[in-house]
Amino acid sequence: MVFFIIMFNKNTQVYLDYASTSPVSEDVLNAMKPYFSEKYGNASSLHSIGQDSNLAIKHAREKVASILNCNAYEIIFTSSGTESDNLALKGIAEANNFKGHIIVSKIEHKAILETATYLEKRGLDITYINVDKKGHVNPKDVINAIRSDTFLVSIMYANNEIGTIQNISSIGNQVQKKGILMHTDAVQAPGLLDLNIEKLHVDMMSLSAHKFYGPKGVGALYVRPGIQIAPQILGGSQERGMRASTENVAGIVGFSEALCLADANREKEVCRLSELRDYLISEIQNQIPKAILTGDMKNRLPNNISFCFEAVEGESLVMRLSQRGFCVSSASACSSGNIGASHVLLACGIKKDVALGSLRVTLGKFTKKKDLERFVIALKASLNTNGFFQKIRT
Ligand code: PLP
Repeated sequence: MVFFIIMFNKNTQVYLDYASTSPVSEDVLNAMKPYFSEKYGNASSLHSIGQDSNLAIKHAREKVASILNCNAYEIIFTSSGTESDNLALKGIAEANNFKGHIIVSKIEHKAILETATYLEKRGLDITYINVDKKGHVNPKDVINAIRSDTFLVSIMYANNEIGTIQNISSIGNQVQKKGILMHTDAVQAPGLLDLNIEKLHVDMMSLSAHKFYGPKGVGALYVRPGIQIAPQILGGSQERGMRASTENVAGIVGFSEALCLADANREKEVCRLSELRDYLISEIQNQIPKAILTGDMKNRLPNNISFCFEAVEGESLVMRLSQRGFCVSSASACSSGNIGASHVLLACGIKKDVALGSLRVTLGKFTKKKDLERFVIALKASLNTNGFFQKIRT
């Protein structure tokens, strides 16, 4: 019977987990297709088939640069957002002989936090900046944490769990004025926020294609010219020697196509998604007593809805919703499978037993209002299975 329910729902599932990953859009897939079998050349080969690939990468790099407002040679294509974050932090740290001080926030993605922990073991000092209840980093706290040996600040643009958007422009401006490098993990931002590196005052920025309807397995790191970073993957001279390995031509083409589409649709999509987000937040708040909204209502990604429910286990709530045909996640999808409360929610001051009942719903280009109307009904029913409504009455 359970098997039947799951099988049935697989055909009628509503995907509300776009912050985890997104489907490759048809236009992106069509742009990529020739580079799998027709135009399969190695971009380093001198012959014409190789040069076709080389040219495709050149054009892709130019397109990405036009959106970031930088020069094409300042983009390094990588295999993921995780690799871009690793390259930014480890690359700078190694160029600095693993000496000195780095500042990160407590709510960074694990790709930053685990890298920071690794660098600590290699001898660096790391300051982990606190956030307020809504997940904001106070720019003053960053500036106050700066020491004479600080060489890098890394603060994420928008949080993947609670959707809080940081004031990167203000932090970056002050950090750069002190002569310190500013990196931002902008993996959740494309298609939703402005990626102009000059307005943001950033020296490095990490991106990942699968978050904006591009393929999995391709990311990018923007690096301002003049910054010394040590490559973390050694071998050939691809990506100006900053990242060896035969280029993923189809992936890079897909990355640039997806980023252009995301940017072109941004204004319209932000309006549409914000309305849907606000609708769902207010429906949950009105219909589910004691639902605790996490993150900030104002500086929030247009597609993020995140709540905690007391006395509920987030992961089982996700399973129940999945059985009812809705794909959502608890805390961070990347850390699902790890038992324990989300470091982001704990950093926001949410108690552990409450944080364990977290739910994240993230909207995307296929989300319709009627999906959300049905979702609220499914959420209430799923919470009821847990005895939630009885428990909160007592
Ligand atoms: N940074 C943030 C903010 C993310 O949300 C993610 C993925 O969820 C990553 C980094 C890692 O990106 P990737 O999955 O491309 O390695």
